[in-house]
Amino acid sequence: MFYFVEHLSAGPQSPDFVGTPPEGPGIPFPRIEPDSVSSGKAVPTMREVPPVEDLGEGLWSIPVPVPHNPIGFTYVYVLSATGGPVLIDTGWNHDDSWTALVEGLARTGHGVDEVQGAVVTHFHPDHSGLTGRLREASDAWIAMHPRDIAILENLAGQAPEERAASMVAQMTRAGFPAEDVDAFRASPTVFRSPAIPDRTLGDGEPLDIPGVALRAVWTPGHTPGHLCLHLADRDLLFTGDHVLPRITPHVGQFPLDSTKGDPLGDFLSSQARTGRLPDAERLLCLPSHEQRFTGLPERTRAIIDHHEERLARMADLLRKGPTTLWELTSGLEWRRSWEDMRVSARHMATSETAAHLRTLEERGLVERDGSMELPRWATIT
Ligand SMILES: [Zn+2]
Repeated sequence: MFYFVEHLSAGPQSPDFVGTPPEGPGIPFPRIEPDSVSSGKAVPTMREVPPVEDLGEGLWSIPVPVPHNPIGFTYVYVLSATGGPVLIDTGWNHDDSWTALVEGLARTGHGVDEVQGAVVTHFHPDHSGLTGRLREASDAWIAMHPRDIAILENLAGQAPEERAASMVAQMTRAGFPAEDVDAFRASPTVFRSPAIPDRTLGDGEPLDIPGVALRAVWTPGHTPGHLCLHLADRDLLFTGDHVLPRITPHVGQFPLDSTKGDPLGDFLSSQARTGRLPDAERLLCLPSHEQRFTGLPERTRAIIDHHEERLARMADLLRKGPTTLWELTSGLEWRRSWEDMRVSARHMATSETAAHLRTLEERGLVERDGSMELPRWATIT
């Protein structure tokens, strides 16, 4: 089987994006841009929205559109339960998306006012965007991993101008040329913060709903609090953005030059752990985008291999001498040529490179010099 490893990227605006960016800088958001080319094959661009599907035994999938975005849609899964249906994710905050969710629920025989709660796989707006509207319509509880709740609380407490200023400073320290920094500064910043969840769901915790044996599997990487959800008695795994059949999620380091954490290291460990879940081989995986798939161990290995190749490539490039984050990122291969990327996509690519550099640092293979103003990385010889 071929895997087209096209990345689901996080960042403000991709070159494919048409219209006003719906979020401000630094708000990760899945995009198909700009990431690495690993297969060398053309990637199909078909993003047709599939129908609402009855997956049997009280489970449905509702594709909720993400308007003006090449990702196309987010699957919201509906589980019938005593006390009202439970949703996995909610979808992007847009009138068309809300209508699709409400009409999709009606197709499953449920009114939106009956929804008892929603488990959100991670804080990104194509998953959490409609939590506020859902809560208003049904008084539903909203559950999320505490690490992602903390991010939302942090974002809610920060003015967009403050975030933009911080990102401009980061880009300058990364070595972005002035024209890119200026272009970024000029881009509009509008972010509608989703509702803050009122329930936490940690690793291994079951969802406390009679008749639904759903358990959280913490899979940090794409976001620090990303959750997959395991319905073990039915051999189903809701994989969110963590494992998708063809594209791989963006993993970035924020702030760009932070020496804290190792998101890519976390992501690789999460992939390995997911591939070793009990009965992983026979699990039917229900992702948030694309289509259902099996072969989880094989898919997680392919994703790990892809990043290991990228890590090796970067370590190799750094042998040539000390390099800024911008120099390294602009010298790598990406799906779209560097020249064709908008500054926001370049920023996104840079955050991904930064995550790889953090992993290489953690592995003792590269180090950055002491400059705080313009750090440079080199291979440790
Ligand atoms: Zn995401």
